[in-house]
Amino acid sequence: MSVNQQAHTGPPYGQPQPGYQGYQQPAYGGQPLPGVPQSQYGAYNGPMPGYQQPVPPQGSLRAPPTSGAPPPASGASLPSGHLAYSQFGHGDVQNGIPTSAAPMQRPPASQPFLPGSAPTPVSQTSTFQQYGPPPAGVQQLSNHMAGMTIGSTTASAPPPAGLGYGPPTSVPPVSGSFSTTGSGLYTPYTASQGPPPTSVSQGLPLAQPPFPGQPISTQRLPTQVPGFAPPPSSTGIGPSSYPPTTGAPRPPTMPGPPLPGQTAAGPPASQPNHVSSPPPPATMAGPHPGPPMSGLHGPLPPTHPPQPGYQMQQNGSFGQVRGPQPNYGGAYPGTPNYGSQPGPPPPPKRLDPDSIPSPIQVIEDDRSNRGSEPFVTGVRGQVPPLVTTNFVVKDQGNASPRYIRCTSYNIPCTSDMAKQSQVPLAAVIKPLATLPPEETLPYLVDHGESGPVRCNRCKAYMCPFMQFIEGGRRFQCCFCSCVTEVPPHYFQHLDHTGKRVDFYDRPELSLGSYEFLATVDYCKNNKFPSPPAFIFMIDVSYNAVKSGLVRLICEELKSLIDFLPREGNMEESAIRVGFVTYNKVLHFYNVKSSLAQPQMMVVSDVADMFVPLLDGFLVNVNESRTVIASLLDQIPEMFADTRETETVFAPVIQAGLEALKAAECAGKLFIFHTSLPIAEAPGKLKNRDDKKLINTDKEKTLFQPQTSFYNNLAKDCVAQGCCVDLFLFPNQYLDVATLGVVTYQTGGSIYKYAYFQLETDQDRFLNDLRRDVQKEVGFDAVMRVRTSTGIRATDFFGAFYMSNTTDVEMAGLDCDKTITVEFKHDDKLSEDSGALLQCALLYTSCAGQRRLRIHNLSLNCCTQLADLYRNCETDTLINYLAKHAYRGVLGSPVKTVRDALINQCAQILACYRKNCASPSSAGQLILPECMKLLPVYLNCVLKSDVLQPGPEVTTDDRAYIRQLVTSMDVAETNVFFYPRLLPLTRADVDSDSLPAAIRNSEERLSKSDIYLLENGLNIFVWVGVNVQQSLIQNLFGVSSFSQISNALSTLPVLENSFSKKVRSIVDMLQVQRSRNMKLIIVKQEDKLEMLFKHFLVEDKSLSGGASYVDFLCHMHKEIRQLLS
Ligand SMILES: [Zn+2]
Repeated sequence: MSVNQQAHTGPPYGQPQPGYQGYQQPAYGGQPLPGVPQSQYGAYNGPMPGYQQPVPPQGSLRAPPTSGAPPPASGASLPSGHLAYSQFGHGDVQNGIPTSAAPMQRPPASQPFLPGSAPTPVSQTSTFQQYGPPPAGVQQLSNHMAGMTIGSTTASAPPPAGLGYGPPTSVPPVSGSFSTTGSGLYTPYTASQGPPPTSVSQGLPLAQPPFPGQPISTQRLPTQVPGFAPPPSSTGIGPSSYPPTTGAPRPPTMPGPPLPGQTAAGPPASQPNHVSSPPPPATMAGPHPGPPMSGLHGPLPPTHPPQPGYQMQQNGSFGQVRGPQPNYGGAYPGTPNYGSQPGPPPPPKRLDPDSIPSPIQVIEDDRSNRGSEPFVTGVRGQVPPLVTTNFVVKDQGNASPRYIRCTSYNIPCTSDMAKQSQVPLAAVIKPLATLPPEETLPYLVDHGESGPVRCNRCKAYMCPFMQFIEGGRRFQCCFCSCVTEVPPHYFQHLDHTGKRVDFYDRPELSLGSYEFLATVDYCKNNKFPSPPAFIFMIDVSYNAVKSGLVRLICEELKSLIDFLPREGNMEESAIRVGFVTYNKVLHFYNVKSSLAQPQMMVVSDVADMFVPLLDGFLVNVNESRTVIASLLDQIPEMFADTRETETVFAPVIQAGLEALKAAECAGKLFIFHTSLPIAEAPGKLKNRDDKKLINTDKEKTLFQPQTSFYNNLAKDCVAQGCCVDLFLFPNQYLDVATLGVVTYQTGGSIYKYAYFQLETDQDRFLNDLRRDVQKEVGFDAVMRVRTSTGIRATDFFGAFYMSNTTDVEMAGLDCDKTITVEFKHDDKLSEDSGALLQCALLYTSCAGQRRLRIHNLSLNCCTQLADLYRNCETDTLINYLAKHAYRGVLGSPVKTVRDALINQCAQILACYRKNCASPSSAGQLILPECMKLLPVYLNCVLKSDVLQPGPEVTTDDRAYIRQLVTSMDVAETNVFFYPRLLPLTRADVDSDSLPAAIRNSEERLSKSDIYLLENGLNIFVWVGVNVQQSLIQNLFGVSSFSQISNALSTLPVLENSFSKKVRSIVDMLQVQRSRNMKLIIVKQEDKLEMLFKHFLVEDKSLSGGASYVDFLCHMHKEIRQLLS
């Protein structure tokens, strides 16, 4: 395990880390080195020796429930101080704009609970980390497989330049592609071989195997079989139906592309174990240059140079005929076509999309299988329902999947196994996640003046996995095995099973998630914090004023300040507010309650920012209400005639930071900014946008900040607990990659409204602003993840700052932010004891209370790879892989990142294929049941704008998306990469439910229907050219298709059931997301349709992204190469 240890000795990031001293403070973390005090958060290591602090008495209010089981999810019975964190909850609405704050409410019914989040990554240190596939495994695996030979592969043939994608074999894509495999492989399909055991039902039906002789199949693994052994023939393809029905048995060995006529050899149209689908029309054209393609019509896309064989799919034609998507042009340069033989193009044939794993089917199956029962967390290593399933969680000792999701719930016992599989071990953690009303918020536990009970050595917090011994006088740590005395006040007798008799009375003994009240030892400088402050900082340069933005913001703030977050039992928010405006200079406002009018103070020396007033800058809203209202009325007037176009930016953050420092509190800056800060000042930027860098080695610079100035500023902000939220309104490039640095590293959020127009964008902006101001946020937060012996957290992804290798610091952490943590082995694990995680988040509440939120999770460990593959969660895996890749682009060429991603996934699947599937089916693509969507989702990541930008995507968009994704939770990455597509015209207007989603492909669209597509950032409403006039009338209030305006940003409010239904669907989707989605109306064959098609992710994209079918073939190829 020396590899891992070595890895751990270096910071996970490559940047210089001045504040690296923290690494010497092992007591803070899982390192059993007691007693080393920590500088800033010394108390977090436990009480200092000799500590004597006045501490809040052990008030009954904060005590854990004293009897019986935890109260039901009713706010009334929760400790009162804790309710503040129920944003949606329990009748105690502590904030929320009365009127249009819809986004703050959950949809009444039945939608999957998808808390949104929206943050932004931080890359700080990560910035320059080298990206690359994990080292060992690859080599290992390929060596391992070197012995396998598969007949006559042509893999080494030089790829024809520029054609198609794929490994260096040139073979016609779909059909001929994998013919090299082998021989014999096909023969096993005889009637005598039964279908694989449980499996197949969801296998890939492949009506036409993409590769003759190599049916794709998936295999369902029985989830409960210990010591799983692969099914006999382990194919997802229904064997029995194969040869017989096709009438064209494949030759035992079939090198080379299928011969004409062999296409018929595909699996029969209906296969018992698979989704049956009609035989695909024989229209699939080979990737070969110039093969005749039937069914192709449509011009070459303008953005592509003509390429042989390239065809746009199905322009304007919908229906059953699927346009060919032959070439993988451009996506994998240099790895042209499939097809191993020169010669005549193979007969047109294609893989039936209905036969390959369908995300929709998987989502639906999980909903119907797991949506009705509560998910009870009492059992170790349980895989939760998918994020798309609506389910209720009952905490019985492990954290809810709303707080933590893992890539696998069964971890390999050894590092070697983990490397062999290449399955990353990661947890996606959302410490302050919002819960639906029917679930219970974490209880707040007060252990009195000595603080939370913790292990003496590793400092883990009391949790359900600690073992009490010696009649209850001591406990053994489940993380490090150290034995600790139970403090006298915490002593309790054990029952005959060894369980404390107060087990069910104490959340920290019986629940997976809870909070501790922190003592002063857990506070900076050993001082209880003051309540935080919000500072609103408004750009009043020419563009901001002229667009109406300044007036809009001021008008909104007048009411919004009455809805600042507050603790549930408090009459008013404890948060103080302050106001700044700026262009090239800064204007501070004194809004002290005793003043008749606000006073402005201008600081024009922006080189050395200071705050010109202390008293009267940060005020209580109620006390200063009149003065504030007066100020917000006056600001738009004061700057109405401004001619100033230049802005500063860094000094604005510095001003906010200084104000918080002076007030000795944490807080949040809300900065509303419009342009590249070119005015002379610290942090001044230049326009360095250059799209010519795309696909060059310098592309990474587009994602990197252009100066390190902001990194240093971010560090200062984190030290003060100054979180920065940024609302951007650019009309041109403003360098999101640089402006966003402070936001990401302080745990803040970025919102971007390009070409902001009052009429169309104000609602979206205001909804975002309201939600952002009101949402739950913890300040001055530090998170540490402890693990039981054998694994260790080694890498972190999200919007935060790290000054050492273990502590994730966030000036602010809100309910939408997610931190993804990767684990590596540093020793062997055991199947008996499993593996434990404990995430501890120390933070200051909105009322200034210092708390610790604890989440515990127990996982299984395995010695059989099959157990690993049976307990994976692909959505979480994709979340991790996307974040890893998106960080990778900071340090490596994008192509390298993409290749590494493909390679890693191919290895994951090859390892499964080799170790868990039947050895007799070497030529088949066999996907583990839990990962059968890995290829389609991976392809979506690969063709996302960050990794493969379309021509219309700006550099700022890419930086923005990169940062957003980095703090997304699993539900958000799921819908972001594979958008939800709903046929609106098939919605039941009398029901509350959503219409069943369909797959993201143009061929699924009917020109007589209307569809909605959402990805968490946008909602498209697509209208087919043949939609009934009455539907158009009902939805848009116009009489014909041609009259529909695609300038609409909302749907007209019309009094008919269809209009109401569609609007309710839109509203329902909006509340599930952390950001207000932009509504875009797309008419079929309109120019905007190009944008819409970009989100039909199963299709080939104009930027060169592969179709799902093609990519699946490509993955198969990659896997086969690894196996051979
Ligand atoms: Zn311990």
